[in-house]
Amino acid sequence: MADCLFCKIVAGEIPARIVKRSEDALAFRDIDAKAPVHLLVIPARHVAAVRDATGADGERLLGSLLAFAAAAASEQGLDGEGYRIVTNTGRNAGQSVDHLHLHVLGGRKMTWPPG
Ligand code: AMP
Repeated sequence: MADCLFCKIVAGEIPARIVKRSEDALAFRDIDAKAPVHLLVIPARHVAAVRDATGADGERLLGSLLAFAAAAASEQGLDGEGYRIVTNTGRNAGQSVDHLHLHVLGGRKMTWPPG
């Protein structure tokens, strides 16, 4: 999608520290990391947020994206101590980039509830 930051990262038009890639998904390091490991996992095709991943295609996309995030976390060595996967959807949640993304956070103890 034109003017989408994360679509431009998928297309290689904007650099990113990519750690894992498939035909359908990409994992790269967040530019403003909130944990020692902070990845963003995104679908290659533009979907604005979780609430827009509807129907059978959306279900497949969400399932495979979560599995991809778990595999990326495992490759980062996070299985032992654990990690958190978060997705912000809409303004109240603080979504700032309107291309569906999972935050994968690990390498430190997390607190709950989130702010
Ligand atoms: P959210 O606020 O949930 O929409 O998350 C968007 C995330 O994208 C934030 O954590 C930003 O730090 C991150 N971000 C924004 N621009 C870039 C970029 N060019 N490369 C990597 N991460 C980015």
